[in-house]
Amino acid sequence: EERIIAGSEQDVDQWQYSLRPRRLVEYIGQDNVKNNLSIFVQAARSRNEALDHVLLYGPPGLGKTTLAGIVANELGVNFRITSGPAIERAGDLAALLTNLGEKDVLFIDEIHRLSRNIEEILYSAMEDFALDIIIGKGPSARSIRLDLAPFTLIGATTKAGALASPLRDRFGVICRLEYYQAEHLVCIVKRAAEILNIAIEDRGAYEIAKRSRGTPRIANRLLKRVRDYAQIAGDGVITDMIADKALAMLEVDKCGLDKTDRNMLLAIIQKFNGGPVGVETLAAAISEETDTIEDVYEPFLLQMGFINRTARGRVATLAAYQHLEIPVKPAGQS
Ligand code: ADP
Repeated sequence: EERIIAGSEQDVDQWQYSLRPRRLVEYIGQDNVKNNLSIFVQAARSRNEALDHVLLYGPPGLGKTTLAGIVANELGVNFRITSGPAIERAGDLAALLTNLGEKDVLFIDEIHRLSRNIEEILYSAMEDFALDIIIGKGPSARSIRLDLAPFTLIGATTKAGALASPLRDRFGVICRLEYYQAEHLVCIVKRAAEILNIAIEDRGAYEIAKRSRGTPRIANRLLKRVRDYAQIAGDGVITDMIADKALAMLEVDKCGLDKTDRNMLLAIIQKFNGGPVGVETLAAAISEETDTIEDVYEPFLLQMGFINRTARGRVATLAAYQHLEIPVKPAGQS
């Protein structure tokens, strides 16, 4: 079963494409990234050159794909989308690259999942706008060089650390997207509500924003579910009370934690005395994969200050005890 507060894209999110802003001024929040990109885009335009390659990194659902599309739009060029796992063979990449027009933007999502040999082909494409292709086999094999039109690669990844450094070094612009503050998510929720024709009060939008884990994709998803509830249990208008009831029903608590998050915190506190507990041990205790804990649960719990990572494992913070309303035991008792 998929978690409603998962940042990654789910089948039910297809409708969200219609909510993607098309211009930089419509893109809410991420002011640093926006200001930088705006200057680079204007500079590239005035020199009539392709924009430098851009790497966007940050947790899923924060608007990397949206931003890449906006950059292409602001540059006035074509936008092509693919992803690391979708490029299986060298020929796939060659086909993509040779079809790009002058200054076009190629977006590669999950770029850290490119295979090593594809990555190497990409190096020379990024650096020299050329492709070295081997034709034939055995002794008669020869290499030919294909020139490409200058293009902009925009790569997106959830973990910049997973990128091979030769690849990372070839990006002229590296931007980190941050979790959104509630005030920005309020704007995102209200904007989406307007487009979808949903009646919502400011305090209703705030209730949803607060519980969306700093993530626009989650905010939009929750908005839609709360709307359903408002239509059945209310008069269609999303008030703070309606939002609160709907989200309680979905088991999304005041801070945006769901049952699994709370189980993990509870396990650290009750089974391991607050920690430290190694991530493998913790994973076994709550029947989850270690990777899922590290990639999905932890980043947000760390961000919220509910857990700390120490050399000896994970520790529940005072904030976690308070949030779960569990009294902290004085030292020495267990
Ligand atoms: P990512 O590529 O980082 O996983 P997306 O670009 O697909 O995230 O964004 C998910 C959804 O969130 C988009 O469909 C869009 O509707 C919304 N969204 C993301 N960022 C913003 C933003 N800054 N302003 C308004 N809506 C946004």
